[in-house]
Amino acid sequence: MLRHIAEGVLIHKSEFCQTNTVVVQGRAGVLLIDPGVRGDEMACLANDLSDLGQTVVAGFSTHPHWDHLLWHARLGEAPRYGTARCAATVRDRLSDAGAKARITGLIPPDLVKQVPLDLLGLITGLPAGTALIPWDGPEVRIIEHQAHAPGHAALLIEERGVLIAGDTLSDVLIPLLDLNDTADPVEDYLAVLRLIEGAADDVDVAIPGHGSVGGADQIHARI
Ligand SMILES: [Zn+2]
Repeated sequence: MLRHIAEGVLIHKSEFCQTNTVVVQGRAGVLLIDPGVRGDEMACLANDLSDLGQTVVAGFSTHPHWDHLLWHARLGEAPRYGTARCAATVRDRLSDAGAKARITGLIPPDLVKQVPLDLLGLITGLPAGTALIPWDGPEVRIIEHQAHAPGHAALLIEERGVLIAGDTLSDVLIPLLDLNDTADPVEDYLAVLRLIEGAADDVDVAIPGHGSVGGADQIHARI
């Protein structure tokens, strides 16, 4: 079921860890951000979109963790993007023969059969420094940072007052640090919180990767 969040912005929720998929209405179809987790939920999303007469024209993964990199055949063959560093990390982690088995090991056992991995991580990196997601719809600004995962992107849709926070600003997860790819994970995390705080005046609603959607007051509270 799609839930309206702001003009032209909807979310579809997964049972897994309250994961939020964000749908942004464009001129010729929708942009899908972090498409979902369970196969049946992504199929449900595909049905909801087809009921609205919408097709997916672009996808975006906020960061290179498995639960943000999935896709379903019924969502179609639109280009799927991430930051250059996100895509390079995905390439790195999925390039060897044991990759799928390793990812399977990260998924909770009761969920694993329901997660389709065949289209996992097929994203194209946008050139480093790309400011906006290339698509025909409201401007979606990329705020790249290195907290929680390499090449992580928070996304700001200024004209709708919406911040898509990726795996920050959650009310159900603690701030999870990236301990593998960086020298100072705490400073990386503080850096993105400063970036988000700096953008907060333009934001009415923040959508975390997992958890509940928050209003402007919630952004400061969660920071
Ligand atoms: Zn994550």
